Amino acid sequence: MKVGIPRGLLYDQFHPFFTRFFTELGAELVISPQTNKSILDAGVQYCVDEACLPVKVFHGHVCHLRDRCDLVFIPRIMQLYKGEYICPKFCGLPEMVTNSIPGLPEVISHPVYATTMARLRQWAMASACPITRDRRRVKSALEAAVDEQSRFRTGYHDQGYPIKVALAGHPYNLYDTFINMNIKKKLNNLGVGVITEEFAGGEDTAQEVRALFKKPFWTFARKTYGFIAALASKKHVQGVVYISSFACGIDSVIIELVRDRIKDFPMLVLKIDEHTGEAGVDTRVEAFADMLERSCKHESDHSPYGQCLYSCKSPV
Ligand code: SF4
Repeated sequence: MKVGIPRGLLYDQFHPFFTRFFTELGAELVISPQTNKSILDAGVQYCVDEACLPVKVFHGHVCHLRDRCDLVFIPRIMQLYKGEYICPKFCGLPEMVTNSIPGLPEVISHPVYATTMARLRQWAMASACPITRDRRRVKSALEAAVDEQSRFRTGYHDQGYPIKVALAGHPYNLYDTFINMNIKKKLNNLGVGVITEEFAGGEDTAQEVRALFKKPFWTFARKTYGFIAALASKKHVQGVVYISSFACGIDSVIIELVRDRIKDFPMLVLKIDEHTGEAGVDTRVEAFADMLERSCKHESDHSPYGQCLYSCKSPV
């Protein structure tokens, strides 16, 4: 049995869990390649126009798998933490994809509530059905998958750069180098290091979120807001680069909340969609890096200590 796994949306965060689970069940995996131009073009062709870029790219990955597997896995990730949801697009992703792309093989799309082991077990039993009904095998595949995921680490935390920025946004915008046009490399080449939310201090982040008048309903909103607010308010970084998907409702809320909290702290918001040109991104990133360098120099020239007041103090 060949199970196709699209390398889109939260694949970069949870591939250890999903790939180990299906491998332990005895399935052969077919994983779509890194996002490229033909995957993007297929996604744009099949997906509805109104969707955000990551959802279009996900459609392209499914398209790539269409004739290469017996089953396609479309994770309907509902909850990672109690009382919070991911995004409405994730809840309806399987319906969106199956209605947009004709000729798909059978789809595995049971909702994933990763809040307790009992709920994960329900997902595992339902998802394994087309491959095996051996409950003992499914149980041990799930345990192996949970173990694999618990040992997986992701994120960036550059050292040794004169300037450091918080690189913020949804994980698929940060880790898919085709979507973000390799923003990390661009920044590094300009002498700017990056840190992502996986390396931010958990308590500082939680404190910032607790200070909000209402706890965010969306996991991305809670994490990204807390990360930026904590690092900017403590001057652990000199600026923020936010990669935002055009037409993402959650991003529009996060950006307003963040702006209200960090005021005039330097933040570059790069809105991306399938029409975004790389030359425009380069110009904005270069201008931002230049501005950070000048403000750092200005601060050092006026500091009684002869160093940049905003020099990065690593949070970890
Ligand atoms: S959170 Fe935003 S970018 Fe992500 S899937 Fe939802 S709408 Fe798209």
